Amino acid sequence: MPLSIKCVSGGCGPGQVPLSEQGEPPPVAEEMDPLGAGAGAARVVHSDMGDPGIVKSPSDPKKYRYIQLANGLRALLISELKDGEWGGTAAEADRDYEEEEEEEATAEPRQEDDEGDSGEGTEEEEEKEEEEVDSDFEELNEEKEAGKRASSEKQSAAALCIAVGSFSDPEDLAGLAHFLEHMVFMGSEKYPAENGFDAFLKKHGGSDNASTDCERTIFQFDVQRKYFRQALDRWAQFFICPLMIEDAIEREVEAVDSEYQLARPSDSHRKEMLFGSLAKPGHPMAKFGWGNAQTLKQEPKEKQINTYQRLRDFWKRFYSAHYMTLTVQSKETLDTLEEWVREIFDKVPNNGKPKPDFSHLQEPFETPAFNKMYRVVPVRKVHGLTLSWAVPPQARHYRVKPLHYISWLIGHEGKGSILSVLRKKRFWG
Ligand SMILES: [Zn+2]
Repeated sequence: MPLSIKCVSGGCGPGQVPLSEQGEPPPVAEEMDPLGAGAGAARVVHSDMGDPGIVKSPSDPKKYRYIQLANGLRALLISELKDGEWGGTAAEADRDYEEEEEEEATAEPRQEDDEGDSGEGTEEEEEKEEEEVDSDFEELNEEKEAGKRASSEKQSAAALCIAVGSFSDPEDLAGLAHFLEHMVFMGSEKYPAENGFDAFLKKHGGSDNASTDCERTIFQFDVQRKYFRQALDRWAQFFICPLMIEDAIEREVEAVDSEYQLARPSDSHRKEMLFGSLAKPGHPMAKFGWGNAQTLKQEPKEKQINTYQRLRDFWKRFYSAHYMTLTVQSKETLDTLEEWVREIFDKVPNNGKPKPDFSHLQEPFETPAFNKMYRVVPVRKVHGLTLSWAVPPQARHYRVKPLHYISWLIGHEGKGSILSVLRKKRFWG
């Protein structure tokens, strides 16, 4: 069972992210609201000033502001406008918005791995192997990256995290959270075209992606700056009024299944599954969060489970504004960004229900099965030794990141390092 699922290329899979980072997101509400300007509170910030309480690098010219909407959604606004620079006005951007024809072009199905990254493990040996395998794509990727950097100021971006993931999957419908993450892309009441958001981004030099992890689901996109407001509005409908029509369910199950089939021959994903199977029985860590045609189509059919209704129930229960954190970054004034975010995201519903809490389920690997040596026949031609420790949740240490220090110490390759000793002794290394 995967400890987490990533539709996204790259980034972190379970075997790769230290458990420290898989806990709840940091408690931003109090810490990043230096002025105590909660929902509806009057702001003391001068016009277009960043929050003075947000600590940033002296060389960082961007401005930051934290806001909380009346529905509980928390947002970090990032303005790329430098002092004295004039980025145009919200009115101008609105004009662009109106000029844009309401085309609902039909999109091709979203390719969640279209960045060319395979989502393989980050363990060093696997990365190295990956590099070799993907070397043909590297040049292309580098060019793409260079192009992106050059035009970064023309791009705007947003990301939204919901504090729910596959840990909240119902026992009888494995992969529902991941499946819902796919389904919200399939049109909304306001913009009903299936995959219309992807088509819009494609047309305006943008890209998007999403991922479902154990306790969080993340959506992100970037687009040319002048289409940012419109893209934000389209994207926000995932969280306001997604259609999730019954017809689309069958098609999208195939998309989830093909992601699963693609990941099957991956050694790192297999290792995740192995780890999942070692967790205590009944612990959410043992869930099969990915989902595939069997768990999302065949089994529900046999058990007469209404996947359509379950999707809607899950959305209503968990896609709630008070579980959401949003970040937007653009070359607009902070005031403009705030205006847009308030206008658009105020409509995200809040069901007032408490957040899913798994804090009572610590130490999933305190099992005899975990304290064993497993010999695994890999898919790839690779030899590796993995030693795994189950450590307590580290989320509250996020400012210090003690596990990062330990991993840097172990990974150091200089004089006196573990690696140099192993090499001297002609061990592996
Ligand atoms: Zn996916």
